Amino acid sequence: MEAKQKLESLLDELSKVNKLPRLSAAARDVDRIIELLSEAREQIAGPMDPHTASLTMAKLQNPIKTAFDKVNDDLKAASSAHKKLGKALDKNFPLKQLPTDNEITESHLPMVNRAIAMHLLREGQFGVASTFIAEAQTKNPPAASPDFDEPMEEDEDDDTDADGTPGLTISTDDDDDADLSSLHSQELQDKFAEMYRILQQLKAKNLLPAIDWARQNSAELEARGSNLEFDLSKLQYVWLFKGPAVNALPDDELNGRAGALAYARAHFSRFQARHLREIQRLASAMVFAPNLAASPYHDTFSIATAFSDVATSFTREFCSLLGLSAESPLYLAVTAGALALPRLMKYMLATRSKGTEWTTAGELPFETPLPESMLFHSIFVCPVSKEQTTADNPPMVIPCGHMLAHETLQKLCKGNRFKCPYCPSEGLMRDARRVIL
Ligand SMILES: [Zn+2]
Repeated sequence: MEAKQKLESLLDELSKVNKLPRLSAAARDVDRIIELLSEAREQIAGPMDPHTASLTMAKLQNPIKTAFDKVNDDLKAASSAHKKLGKALDKNFPLKQLPTDNEITESHLPMVNRAIAMHLLREGQFGVASTFIAEAQTKNPPAASPDFDEPMEEDEDDDTDADGTPGLTISTDDDDDADLSSLHSQELQDKFAEMYRILQQLKAKNLLPAIDWARQNSAELEARGSNLEFDLSKLQYVWLFKGPAVNALPDDELNGRAGALAYARAHFSRFQARHLREIQRLASAMVFAPNLAASPYHDTFSIATAFSDVATSFTREFCSLLGLSAESPLYLAVTAGALALPRLMKYMLATRSKGTEWTTAGELPFETPLPESMLFHSIFVCPVSKEQTTADNPPMVIPCGHMLAHETLQKLCKGNRFKCPYCPSEGLMRDARRVIL
C-alpha cells in the first residue's frame, strides 16, 4: 500500500514536470537567432551601399540581445524543472545502502560483463553490444595465461585484422568461459541479426523466411519434438486461404483457396507421418469455405494471435538451437533479484541486529515468491522432516493425497502400515507412489 502511494505521488510529480518548460523552447529561440543573422547576412552580401550595410548591422543589435536573454531564461526554467524532478526522486526513493557484504560485480567482473554483452546481443542491440565489449576489453584486458603457447605479438596480429570490426573478436580460445573474447560475439550477432530479420518479416505477416529457416533446421527441430515447421506451414495455408481481402497479397492463382490448395499439395506431404489428422482437417475446411465461421473448423481459421504465437515459438526454437533459453538469463536474474530484494534486506537487517548468521552456502534461509514463469526447478520440502527431497529421498504421495519424503514415510511405518500425520487416514506402504516433479 505504501509503495503504491509513493508511486502515485511520484507519477504526480512527473506529470507536473511534463508541464514544465523544457529545452525545446531554448532550441526554438536559438533557431530564431540564426534566422535573424542569416537574413542580415543575405542583405549585406547583396548589392547595397556601405551605409545600408552598417544600418542593417545596427538594427540587429537589439533583437539579438533580446533573443539571447530569452534563451537564457528558457535554459534557467528547464534546469529548475530538472532539479525539481531530481528532488522528487530523492524524496521518494531515498538512497539506502544495500545490506550485502559481498560485491559480486567485483569478484566476478568478467562473468557479469559477459552476461551483459550476451543480453545486449540477444536483444538485438548490436551497436551497444560491440561498444560495450570493446570498452570492457580495454578497461579489463583478459589476463594472459602463463602457459600460452604462442608469443603475444602474433596473437595480437591475428585479432586486430580478423574482419576489421573493432571489439568483435572471434576467438577460438575456449579455455576461459568467462572471458568476453570467448563469446564469439560476431557469430552470435550474425545469428541474432538473422533471428530479428525473420521476426520482422513475421510481424509484417510474411511467413516465408521463417518457414525457410525451419526447413533448413528441420532435423534438429524434429529431434527436439518441435512442431514449428508444421505450425508455420499450416498458418501459411490458412493465410493464403483467407485470400487477398485479408492477406493483401496479389490476387492470383497463388493466393486464395486455390493458392492454399496448391501450397498444401506442394508442401504438406512431408508432414503426413506426424500431422495427418490436422492436414485432413485443413483440407476438409475447403468444403465449408463459404461459411467457415459457423463450421467445426472456425478455431483453426481464427488467426487473431496466430502470428504472435508462431513468433514466440520461433524465438524459443531459434534460441534453443543456439543452446540458449528463450528469455534473456540476465533479464530473468535481475527481475527475480528485484522481487527477492525486499525479503533479503529484511532478513539481512534482522540477522545483523541479532548478530546471527546463516551458514549454509549458496542457499537462502527463506523462500522467494516468484511468478510461475520464473520457476524452473520444482522442489518439494517434506512437511515433517523439513528436508528438501532428492533423487535418493524422493517425494511420495500417499492414498489420502498428502505428500511426504520417502525417508519420513519409512520412519512412520509400523510394519507395513502408516498413519498420515496430517489426516487420520491409514495407508499401506505399497500404495504410496513416487512423485516425479
Ligand atoms: Zn493424509
